[in-house]
Amino acid sequence: MGDLLIFTDKGIYCAAGDFYIDPWRPVPRALITHGHADHARPGHGSYLATAAAAPVMRHRLGDISLETIGYSKTRQIGDVTVSFHPAGHVPGSAQIRIEHKGEIWVVSGDYKIEPDGFSEPFEPVTCHAFITECTFGLPVFKWQPQADVIGQINDWWRQNAAAGRTSVLGAYALGKAQRILSAVDASIGPILTHGAVENTNDVLRAQGLKLPETVYAGPDLKIKDYPGALVICPPSGFGGGWTRRFGAHSTAFASGWMALRGVRRRRAADRGFVMSDHADWDGLNTAITETGAERIFVTHGYTSVFRRWLAEQGYDARIVETEYEGEALDQTETEAAE
Ligand SMILES: [Zn+2]
Ligand SMILES: [Zn+2]
Repeated sequence: MGDLLIFTDKGIYCAAGDFYIDPWRPVPRALITHGHADHARPGHGSYLATAAAAPVMRHRLGDISLETIGYSKTRQIGDVTVSFHPAGHVPGSAQIRIEHKGEIWVVSGDYKIEPDGFSEPFEPVTCHAFITECTFGLPVFKWQPQADVIGQINDWWRQNAAAGRTSVLGAYALGKAQRILSAVDASIGPILTHGAVENTNDVLRAQGLKLPETVYAGPDLKIKDYPGALVICPPSGFGGGWTRRFGAHSTAFASGWMALRGVRRRRAADRGFVMSDHADWDGLNTAITETGAERIFVTHGYTSVFRRWLAEQGYDARIVETEYEGEALDQTETEAAE
């Protein structure tokens, strides 16, 4: 019997069900792990995603043929049974489980282990073969608890507010921005948003997710009306003079890459908060151990180092070429800017 999933130039393909998972070229039938642009691409004949991922996908991809499924519900497609399980990455994100004649494969998409209080928490899924990213697959990547990082962000915001400065924080428009919004101390001051963040907020609020009040920081915004504000924008928002409207301000990025001093320096932000929507080294290893899988396919990130590490641990580990992008420092995982 051949492999249940194969890696083609269009994406991850399941012949027994005749569908692709997160394909990067147009295909007739696509199962989608989550709404980030490198996973949910335009041009497919039909889409299947979780009900919680659907609103963002419709917002981004327009009038697509999209069916939804609840977490843990099973569905027969061709000869296989598929189900979607929380990946803890962004709201609606899923690991996709495929079962065929007792053999189980899981495509994890992007995931993180620590519950963020906003996305559906990650659930380990037992399987024989596990397809995983390894964006942060080096031991140097070790995240602090979210509460600690949010405490650092609150302190930075409070100090800026006291000094009469606006706090401008770069974070992905889908996921990280809302995770931060839902966790920061909104009593410190008003919260302003870039258009790409506000559009996503609107979509998520409409599906019932709770976020504090935010104000769209359009070109006509008068910053004196919002003293001590926190501004959330995509990482790309720092360029092109967009921040000029905020007068005296301090800048910061929230990204897993901020763990690297060299990257922090090159970004030319005043502060770097180490916070990622991807698993750190321990998270990757925990997730892999919990699947009980013997075969591991690594898709993107520090693939060669991580594959070697897994092989040393006794796994049948392979690298597969994909077009997923991990945690980009710039716009890649966000929507188009305003
Ligand atoms: Zn993602
Ligand atoms: Zn990704």
